[in-house]
Amino acid sequence: MKSINIRLSNVNVSLENFSLNCIEKEVINLRQEIFEKIIKDIFASIEKLAIKTIRCTCGNLPVKNGKEKRTICTIGGKVTFMRSRMICKTCGANYYPLDDAIGMPSGIKHSVRTTEALLDLATDLPYAKTSRYVKKLASIKGKCPDNT
Ligand SMILES: [Zn+2]
Repeated sequence: MKSINIRLSNVNVSLENFSLNCIEKEVINLRQEIFEKIIKDIFASIEKLAIKTIRCTCGNLPVKNGKEKRTICTIGGKVTFMRSRMICKTCGANYYPLDDAIGMPSGIKHSVRTTEALLDLATDLPYAKTSRYVKKLASIKGKCPDNT
């Protein structure tokens, strides 16, 4: 089984306010940072592999053509990351190897699990309430602000 080793740096926690409300808020923010770091490290490893094996549908090898920022909403929160863009010099086709590898085509904003959770909530609640509750619980919104 393939695996990667992810190192988490030291975590610095402010102890200026001892109220549970402040501690909870700080730890939730740290959880989000750590979650995003782990996802980004995993994505970087997957992208490295995907770039090595990508082939254009015309049969030629695409070449790197810069990087592009992308934001997706996962069940653990919003994740913003850089991904490589590649182009086939023969036919002009563009590729995002990471998008293909993780099964998140360009333009899709939510993971499948997130979409399912949002649909479950929206089935029982009005959209505005669903958005408000999800934001409180998972730091995500019905719509990702960076995906315009
Ligand atoms: Zn091509």
